[in-house]
Amino acid sequence: MKIAVVGAGIIGISSAYRIKTSNSHLNVTVIADQFTPYNTSDGAVGNLVPLDDGGTPEDLLLRWYQETRDRCQYLMSTNENAANMGLSVLAGTYIMKTKQDFPKWAKHMNEFVALSHSELKQFNVPAACGFTVSVNVCEGAKYIPCMMKEFVALGGKLVKRKIKDLSELSNEYDIVVNCTGMASKWLVKDDKMFAVRGQTIRVKAPWVKKYLVYISGLEDRICAILPNQDSCVLGVTFQKDNYSTVVSTEDREWLLNETAKLLPSIKNAPILWDYVGLRPGREGVRLERENLSCKEHGFLKVIHNYGHSANGISLHWGCR
Ligand SMILES: Cc1cc2nc3c(=O)[nH]c(=O)nc-3n(C[C@H](O)[C@H](O)[C@H](O)COP(=O)(O)OP(=O)(O)OC[C@H]3O[C@@H](n4cnc5c(N)ncnc54)[C@H](O)[C@@H]3O)c2cc1C
Repeated sequence: MKIAVVGAGIIGISSAYRIKTSNSHLNVTVIADQFTPYNTSDGAVGNLVPLDDGGTPEDLLLRWYQETRDRCQYLMSTNENAANMGLSVLAGTYIMKTKQDFPKWAKHMNEFVALSHSELKQFNVPAACGFTVSVNVCEGAKYIPCMMKEFVALGGKLVKRKIKDLSELSNEYDIVVNCTGMASKWLVKDDKMFAVRGQTIRVKAPWVKKYLVYISGLEDRICAILPNQDSCVLGVTFQKDNYSTVVSTEDREWLLNETAKLLPSIKNAPILWDYVGLRPGREGVRLERENLSCKEHGFLKVIHNYGHSANGISLHWGCR
């Protein structure tokens, strides 16, 4: 049986890996026009948090998240290569400017503790409520190359190719798994897809060891300082229906100013690079089978797995 997985981001590579490990006799090929480090998944921060996407049922979201977290936790406990895979666990503090309910996902995180009144006073910004949790981190830019290497070692194949229409694969493959993320909007004409633009700045700040997130009530941005192993992310925008991949100077100013208010020492952090990525927004992940009618070959079996919004890393292992 020949299977093509289209897409080499976190969803494509983990889907291909799982198919190949489920049955080593399957002939599995990942086809993509771009491989790591050029995909949205490589630019993600990598924190595992099951954010509500407005469409995926909560029980499903939680199951996918917990399976993903368990997988990362298991690798960290058992695999000597876990640090090279970009896996870690960090303490995270989330504070809110105004009194409000905590997000639904908070209570599902490990080590959830609400902050006391005196703890809230310790921040450099006004904070009415907040909590701490421990956050599993899976850095796409490190994790994906390791997974790809393992996939190839198992006999999986990688092909660089741009697909114009999934039906063009019908004479070569028995099953196609569509993991093209944002591009599914155009490739399979899914009108429910929308970009959620994310701009960040990477700085060198090895003294920052914890996540610090400030929710001040703006709809399209959250002030966040999020350390990875080799850099620290200053973020981040959530601009719906914005398809620009150009660095905006206005957003850049906002990121630098607001993160410095939250943690003044960040002003001294050398800037490494700016980043813009388009989250594959959708009110509900599309994980679904389709029999695609093809001109010459009847039907092609397609499994869609895309539209993970801000959750691709958080759900990748469970969503299959
Ligand atoms: C700034 C930022 C921070 C983020 N932080 C987090 C985070 O902390 N945690 C989290 O869970 N998520 C985070 N995300 C969201 C996460 O990055 C996405 O949900 C995830 O990358 C989606 O993965 P994907 O594999 O579906 O898509 P992608 O990584 O975009 O991969 C799509 C693949 O499909 C291929 N492709 C597309 N069209 C074609 C075609 N026609 N022919 C051939 N190949 C094609 C591409 O080349 C690519 O290989 C963040 C996103 C941004 C922008």
